[in-house]
Amino acid sequence: MAFESLSDKLQNIFKGLRGKGRLTEDDVKAALKEVKMALLEADVSFKVVKQFIKTVTERAIGQDVLNSLTPGQMVIKIVNEELTNLMGSETTKLKLLPDNEITVIMMMGLQGAGKTTTTAKIAGKLKGSGKKPLLVACDVYRPAAVEQLQINGDKQGVPVFAMGTNHKPVDIARAAIEHAKKNNNNVVILDTAGRLHVDEDMMNELIEIRDNIDITQTVLVVDAMTGQDAVNVATQFNEKIGIDGIIITKLDGDTRGGAALSIKAVTGKPILYVGMGEKLSDLEQFYPDRMASRILGMGDVLSLIEKAEQAIDQEKAKDMEQRLRKAQFTFDDYLEYMGQIKNMGGLSEMLSLIPGLGGQIKEDMLPDDKQLGRIEAIIYSMTKEERGNPDILNPSRKQRIAKGAGVDISEVNKLVKQFDQAKKMMKNMPGMMGGGKKKRRGG
Ligand code: GDP
Repeated sequence: MAFESLSDKLQNIFKGLRGKGRLTEDDVKAALKEVKMALLEADVSFKVVKQFIKTVTERAIGQDVLNSLTPGQMVIKIVNEELTNLMGSETTKLKLLPDNEITVIMMMGLQGAGKTTTTAKIAGKLKGSGKKPLLVACDVYRPAAVEQLQINGDKQGVPVFAMGTNHKPVDIARAAIEHAKKNNNNVVILDTAGRLHVDEDMMNELIEIRDNIDITQTVLVVDAMTGQDAVNVATQFNEKIGIDGIIITKLDGDTRGGAALSIKAVTGKPILYVGMGEKLSDLEQFYPDRMASRILGMGDVLSLIEKAEQAIDQEKAKDMEQRLRKAQFTFDDYLEYMGQIKNMGGLSEMLSLIPGLGGQIKEDMLPDDKQLGRIEAIIYSMTKEERGNPDILNPSRKQRIAKGAGVDISEVNKLVKQFDQAKKMMKNMPGMMGGGKKKRRGG
């Protein structure tokens, strides 16, 4: 999970502070020393850590903090605010021109960073918001890259403009813009070629495109897992080409988070999105404040609400809530509910967004995919009638279901029991599952 090891460490440090009624300057300094170590171990740039600790120390040993009723909480609040500042304080969105003009986005990055995948992810988001994107294959060195873009474009239902590998990227870009004008596309996204390392040829090619095409913005894609290398790559691209925004991919697998925490502070350029998985829907707008709260285990309720809104069909949710209240909840609903949780990124991802739960629930405490698969198999082995009316499940029916699903009857019994409990619990929960009135703040 993103930031997991850093998050664990910080939460442990702050657990100690929170418990204390009074704090001395030395308490704060000792805690911040540990914070410093944790950040360095997370591969945050040394300079950034030094400045961060300096700022937090100055603010935290002020008299107002030490004399306050909850000094520990105040220190945590300061760390939260400064982490937010580090990552950019404000949310920066992709710059888009009005619909009647053509926005041109140049995607850049090293090979393997996730550029092509991310390009398709963005196209999907733009399409979803009513834009008419056109993807452009400007990587003329790897025929496989052109093909990959085409496949991903198809998946997103977004057209892909390609001219094979015998033209100069700048010419392909020019032709693509003409194509966009004729076909009413208003966002042109150039997927340029990456290399294994930053090299002259790649940079010159990008400069040629930049100087000859009216680019609205340049977006650099970097791989979170490469830590400080990602920050160095960003610095070089920014010096040679100029970058307007950054996308950090593979944050889902980055337990340390050093790149995400340093890249804005080092380059001065904002993180626009973060990649949270291989699926084309796994791209999230980057909110510095929410990310800081997540790192500190304070949860991210706003993201949870948004995920729920995206994953859950409001009409169906309302309908389900009504049936729940009337105790008509069935195994078919259970299946659907499981599907929605999967859409929201799985249980562990969801739980990490809930304040106070974040650091406490570990992956191994949750049912894994295999267990969920068995639950599905059991439900699928029921007849339609049994799914709709679980009360008729007598021992011989349960035996048959267990056989059909290839599990022991005790697992069927356990599921039926859990189901009954869930049913009781949900009946008592007001306004669950998005069926209630939509409430939302910020965004
Ligand atoms: P490119 O060479 O920069 O165009 O990179 P690709 O788009 O081909 O991606 C390289 C690999 O990274 C592929 O296997 C992608 O599925 C994977 N990938 C891209 N973004 C993410 C992400 O956010 N999370 C994870 N886990 N994998 C990603």
